[in-house]
Amino acid sequence: MTRDEMFRLVSERLDTYQGQVIEWQRELVSRVALGPEVGGVGEDDKAAFLTDLLQSWGLTVDNYPAPDDRVPGGARPNLVAYLPGKKPDKVWVLSHMDVVPPGDMSLWQSDPFTLRVDGDRLYGRGTEDDHHGIVMSLLAVKAFMDLNITPERTLALALVADEETGNEKGLVHVLREQARLFSPQDLIIVPDAGSNDGTMIEVAEKSILWLKVTLLGQQGHASRPHKAKNTLRAAAHVIVALDDLQREFPRHNPLFRPPMSTFEPTRKEANVPNINTIPGKGVFYLDCRVLPDYDLAQVIEHVRAMATAAADKFGVTLEVETVQALPSAPPTAPDAPVVKALQQAIRQVYGREATPQGIGGGTVAAFFRQAGLPAAVWMTANDCAHQPNEFCFLSHILGDAKVLAHVCLLAE
Ligand SMILES: [Zn+2]
Repeated sequence: MTRDEMFRLVSERLDTYQGQVIEWQRELVSRVALGPEVGGVGEDDKAAFLTDLLQSWGLTVDNYPAPDDRVPGGARPNLVAYLPGKKPDKVWVLSHMDVVPPGDMSLWQSDPFTLRVDGDRLYGRGTEDDHHGIVMSLLAVKAFMDLNITPERTLALALVADEETGNEKGLVHVLREQARLFSPQDLIIVPDAGSNDGTMIEVAEKSILWLKVTLLGQQGHASRPHKAKNTLRAAAHVIVALDDLQREFPRHNPLFRPPMSTFEPTRKEANVPNINTIPGKGVFYLDCRVLPDYDLAQVIEHVRAMATAAADKFGVTLEVETVQALPSAPPTAPDAPVVKALQQAIRQVYGREATPQGIGGGTVAAFFRQAGLPAAVWMTANDCAHQPNEFCFLSHILGDAKVLAHVCLLAE
């Protein structure tokens, strides 16, 4: 049988797995995997389900747990399983098991942790981010095994923890402890972002900078503001002043979407519980996605200077702390083998031309690139990750599994 014939068989087989996609999504959605930073217990439940499933197929599942005493099990699971190919060269698919919290529950039309199926749409927290990646890789393994077809390259699944809160207990841990798992000759695919027609292959990312801004004033009775220093009012002015960051760092780069650096105030910690107290302490956070042209230390310096100047007017002092500073990694070459293999497969499966691009949302692929491993972020996604009523299309998962199968069978 030629490799093209094998691909046709696998492709046809995948079309029969609709029910399988729904079943796995239902299981994964119901296993809430929130990190301890957001009050969760980690990924153990989901990891146990995936381990059982892969072992039931006769595959060996290695776990590289990252010690973490904030979760009940004392560690965060990082699973690796292989479907051996004819060659030892690997196609890696790295997906993450953790999800983000549902956010404002009133915006959800159904329970975020119970899968809701509506035609081709599968609703639930994590369905797209990143169960899409997990399920498409499971599907490809299952199709090869059911047909007893050995792919050309070894298909390697990495199912990691802690993607949503910094990766320290996830891929960063695995790369630090088990760097030998990966080779620059491997094709590394990270299905964790993409466009809705599957034509975006992400090869470059902006630098990520998360800052915590703490304002210290003077608490007091709301009827006597002259005796207090109101940190909520000061914070409002500081946030408005920080809008000028866009002017301070104005460069554009058309490889990226959006093409400029972004500076978003996001989380605000609770201050006083009652209405008639003026808050004397305020904490908010800034999520900056910075073009590689700029040095992050320079951005921090500007934030500190601009914020301090704005807070000074209210007699409020402030402190700026770095929660995460991740300088952008060297991009994956737009003509890297993984990019070419994906382009070829996407052409075959979807009949479309995919292009290498840069994005603002940092993904876990940056850690591969920093380690000298060219990784490509790709999937067919609706861009509803982290939103209420997150969903994915069942048909996209099946199509993307075909692309993956094509890469395993036919990549050079
Ligand atoms: Zn994700």
